[in-house]
Amino acid sequence: MGRKKKRKISKKLKNALITIAITILIYLLSKTGVLTAIDKAIAETGLADIVDTTDTSVVSTKPTVKTNTEIVEKVAQNIQIDSNKLNILFFDVGQADCILVLNKGKSVLIDAGNSGDGEFIVNGIKALGIEKIDYVVGTHVHEDHIGGMSYIVDSFDVGEFYLPYNETTTTTYYKKLLTSLTEKEESIIEINVGDKFSVEGANFEVMAVDHSEPENANNTSIVLELAYGNQKYLFMGDAETEVEEGRKWNDVDVLKVGHHGSNTSTSQEFLNQVAPEISIISVGEGNSYGLPKDKILTRLEKIGTTIYRTDNDGTIQLISDGTSNEIVKIDVNFDSSQN
Ligand SMILES: [Zn+2]
Repeated sequence: MGRKKKRKISKKLKNALITIAITILIYLLSKTGVLTAIDKAIAETGLADIVDTTDTSVVSTKPTVKTNTEIVEKVAQNIQIDSNKLNILFFDVGQADCILVLNKGKSVLIDAGNSGDGEFIVNGIKALGIEKIDYVVGTHVHEDHIGGMSYIVDSFDVGEFYLPYNETTTTTYYKKLLTSLTEKEESIIEINVGDKFSVEGANFEVMAVDHSEPENANNTSIVLELAYGNQKYLFMGDAETEVEEGRKWNDVDVLKVGHHGSNTSTSQEFLNQVAPEISIISVGEGNSYGLPKDKILTRLEKIGTTIYRTDNDGTIQLISDGTSNEIVKIDVNFDSSQN
């Protein structure tokens, strides 16, 4: 007992000495200004932000170095669409979603990045020779999904436009979108679970949506399943576990992981049902939310799915003949907050 006590005292002494040393170090650092610089760096990189929500109403203030000309050139040089096959482009839009599905000259757009990305996305899609988007889907009203949507409506001939009903949203980008739709004499079409639409044999079905304006807009997400040949693709938007638990899911080949790989989504039960061969995570490099979460990555790895991430792999192009899927990684970035 005596020895133990002695050890405790010496430990206390040691701790006190360490505290004194740290205090002196902090004092010296603050005198030299090093600490202020570290604080500033943390604030700039957003490391101080530990809130896990992707309802980002603040557009990044980082300077934009990319130009539209560069985007057009990069897309023209690096993206090759196989017009005989199904092409799905998961655009690298940083901490946001933007997915373009192309099939035999027809197109479906699911989300349009943050507000600042809108112009880049428009120029990128135009560089692919596309003038009309047959179906435009805004999964839900958060900025990282529909921030750039007004640019899409302004710049393309839009066939049908889908978005969950949301009257209480007052954000600038949402109002801008409503104005753009009015100017184009387009209106938001309400789609419901079980509704279907297709482009040249690529068949979409609505698996989930909520028009009742729940507090958590993520759970209003329009979730789409795409069937092409014998392949199935599931686009989760930011739908969370509550939605995952709300129905039975088909076994799919490719999963666009829900909510950027956040802990709120991709439950084990859900994953057991969908069991994708390929999982795609749309996520920003060094994002302040720490996404994708390790727990989700481990869960995905355990079921043996191959993971692709826009932060590591850039824009991801999936090409399918209806029986298998080929992945091409493309170094084109549409994120206005990154170089
Ligand atoms: Zn999101």
